[in-house]
Amino acid sequence: MREAEVVVLGAGVAGLTLARLLWEGGRSVLVVAEALGEASRPPVALVNPLRGRRFTLAEEGERALEAALAFYGRFVSLHLEVYRPVPERERDQVAKRLGGLRHRWEGGGVVLEEAFWLEPRPLLERLARGVPLLKGRVLAWEPPYLCLEGGERVRGEILVYAGGGRGAHLLGLGGRHVPGLVLTLLDYFPRAISYRVYLAGSALGGSYLSEGEGPDPPPPTKGEVAWLLEGAEALVGYRPQVASAWRGVRFRLPAQGEGLPYLFPVEGGYALTGLGSTGFLYAPLLVGRLAGKL
Ligand SMILES: Cc1cc2nc3c(=O)[nH]c(=O)nc-3n(C[C@H](O)[C@H](O)[C@H](O)COP(=O)(O)OP(=O)(O)OC[C@H]3O[C@@H](n4cnc5c(N)ncnc54)[C@H](O)[C@@H]3O)c2cc1C
Repeated sequence: MREAEVVVLGAGVAGLTLARLLWEGGRSVLVVAEALGEASRPPVALVNPLRGRRFTLAEEGERALEAALAFYGRFVSLHLEVYRPVPERERDQVAKRLGGLRHRWEGGGVVLEEAFWLEPRPLLERLARGVPLLKGRVLAWEPPYLCLEGGERVRGEILVYAGGGRGAHLLGLGGRHVPGLVLTLLDYFPRAISYRVYLAGSALGGSYLSEGEGPDPPPPTKGEVAWLLEGAEALVGYRPQVASAWRGVRFRLPAQGEGLPYLFPVEGGYALTGLGSTGFLYAPLLVGRLAGKL
């Protein structure tokens, strides 16, 4: 039986950010996961504290961006600046929502100078480098043990759940599973452009569907692809050519009272999950807080 002081279930951006930080700090840590990330494997991820159509500043968005800039830059290139066209009639409203974020107005929009995009797949691989990782499927959460398929058990003085939507049933966590689609393109957009949909690197993404059945990715729908391409055309004046598509499912926990709902105590340890479409934004901030508790 393998054991460690801290056993982390999940090797997505949440689990690996935590495991990396603990491992670098000399702590005894073991990650147990079926694969390197699940929702954490889009072709690109935007780290942008201004969210959604209304461009609302995410809770603790400035602090989260600061932590993300400091952490991810050690592992992958950060492609700084997100450009957001702002229709004339919305300018005053948007200006009020920018908080203390560094920005400048350019042409018909605003440039967020410290927001960025990165490539999640090399990030996950680099975060995992050197960190003890056991590949396997966890069937039960029985503190201080995780019980794996095949009968193996792993023991942790503290267990941390970072298993996203796929493993949420292990803890009986009720959240929403929201499918998302990212098209990869033949074109390359060095600076992210975001308004309804986003273009960044060779990716085109956006949130079309609002609810799915569970953690298994459904096939892309026709309406979804057309909606993404129309959104891209509105941003750059033509329909980019599509090379392939990546489907993932976000897992979102509902807000519960005050504060971010993604880090909370559970039997045997903690859970860091339910990050919806903000996993890359919040992971370094929340992991910093969790590491302080461990
Ligand atoms: C289409 C799409 C686009 C996105 N774009 C962005 C973006 O631009 N910016 C952003 O910040 N976020 C984005 N997100 C959201 C972000 O990807 C998620 O918030 C984040 O990846 C969640 O990470 P996680 O570590 O919690 O979970 P996951 O990445 O899902 O990782 C879960 C881990 O747990 C393991 N696991 C689960 N159950 C078990 C089990 N029973 N046994 C063993 N292992 C198990 C899995 O193998 C995996 O390693 C996007 C998501 C999607 C779907």
